[in-house]
Amino acid sequence: MQTPLSLLQDIIESYQNQIFPHPIAPHITTKQLEKQLHPYDFQKPIELATLTTQVSKLLKEGNLHVPHPGYFGLYNPATTQASIIADALVALYNPQLAVQSHSPAANAIEKHVLDFMAQHIGYSGDYYSCFTSGGSEANHMGLLAALAHRYPAYVEEGVWALEKRPVVYISAAGHNSFDKVVKNTGLGSNTLRKIPLDKSLKISLFHLEEQIQKDILAGYHPAVLIGTAGTTGSGTIDPLPQLVKLAEKYDLWFHVDAAWAGAAVLSEKLKSYLNGIEQADSITIDAHKWLSTSMGAGMFFTKHSTAVQTAFNIPAAYMPSHLQTEPYATSLQWSRRFIGLKLFMVLAEKGQNAIATQMEYQCHLAEYMKEKLMASGWLIINDSPVAVLNFTHSSILSGSISTDKIQKQVEQEGNFWLSTIPIAEYGKVLRAGVTSLHTREEHIDQLMDRLNQFVNL
Ligand SMILES: *Cc1c(COP(=O)(O)O)cnc(C)c1O
Repeated sequence: MQTPLSLLQDIIESYQNQIFPHPIAPHITTKQLEKQLHPYDFQKPIELATLTTQVSKLLKEGNLHVPHPGYFGLYNPATTQASIIADALVALYNPQLAVQSHSPAANAIEKHVLDFMAQHIGYSGDYYSCFTSGGSEANHMGLLAALAHRYPAYVEEGVWALEKRPVVYISAAGHNSFDKVVKNTGLGSNTLRKIPLDKSLKISLFHLEEQIQKDILAGYHPAVLIGTAGTTGSGTIDPLPQLVKLAEKYDLWFHVDAAWAGAAVLSEKLKSYLNGIEQADSITIDAHKWLSTSMGAGMFFTKHSTAVQTAFNIPAAYMPSHLQTEPYATSLQWSRRFIGLKLFMVLAEKGQNAIATQMEYQCHLAEYMKEKLMASGWLIINDSPVAVLNFTHSSILSGSISTDKIQKQVEQEGNFWLSTIPIAEYGKVLRAGVTSLHTREEHIDQLMDRLNQFVNL
């Protein structure tokens, strides 16, 4: 009889070593899952090894397999063993990161890895950084820190303290997590100005400046500018240096949402695409996207540590420490999971060079696929340096076949997974991102063969 932990080891190794699971996307229905869960009435105890086997089977059957080399989806990476082990160690020691004194080792490890990232971003001197549950939370922190910095009275009196209505600018392709933040901070959805895109799918500088000037004339207060470094749909990087200039000209807090592409600061070859990020007042980067850690592992950086204290510090008599620099007093979270260990272990195990090489290889694969697509008569819509392709075909544009049909059929067959995204006059186009650590040229060849069958009828 195996112990639950040795069983777990087998499960992890067999999932990681297997010939890739089929189908990529789960075919099991919610009804079938509910039926399978029915016997778990939490009355009769189940032996842990048996339970482990059962739950693992459920998860394997009812899950999208992102490590699969045919997964060309959104930014969900194959995790590495280092990340899995880190998660297990965190569960074992369960460090509470709310205060330094409860978990000095965990806090020191997080600081060590955040400093490393900050150094590669180009931050120096006084800055604040922390791990978050993901990019969404980091974006949330960015906006709250910006408000606290710009309007200190806001933290006590809320929006009632503001003489003028603040306005926040973002590209129309920016992440929708910002919609949630403005909806729920008392600013309101209409506070977010979604600036049209230029031909290259970047934020239109012309429309941005025009909107800022309109808002000033209307008596609003342009407050925050968000640059997206790697839009979710197209992997487009906004012109950060020009945005920095506009932010200076109009005195805007400049936040860079680099949830996916921010990891490129670790690559000498790719980092120049992010030039200007070092000037940002605040930055979001997810480790659980391009750095192969399990979810959720976001990071937040800002040059304004006092703004973070203004935004988040509160008196709490029951806490063991009342220092304004304690994690609970400088962030949205209170009890904090030791999120940073997985990034620490991933970086330490592989080393920066290997990680950079992997990212560069994924970019190469996207270029490889781009050439193949063009050679077969497909139309490439976007121009992303970070391994994302948007494409369509004359057969799609003429209505002979739809991208939704292609997407669904491919998903049903189970060998590949890709998504669709609407882009301006093209309607819904296909989107393929190279995100699996296991994708090679041969998988792209196979995907191309399948896609070509749809349009060469
Ligand atoms: C994924 C993503 C987010 C949201 O991050 P989560 O980790 O999913 O919360 C925000 N912005 C961009 C550009 C993203 O790609």
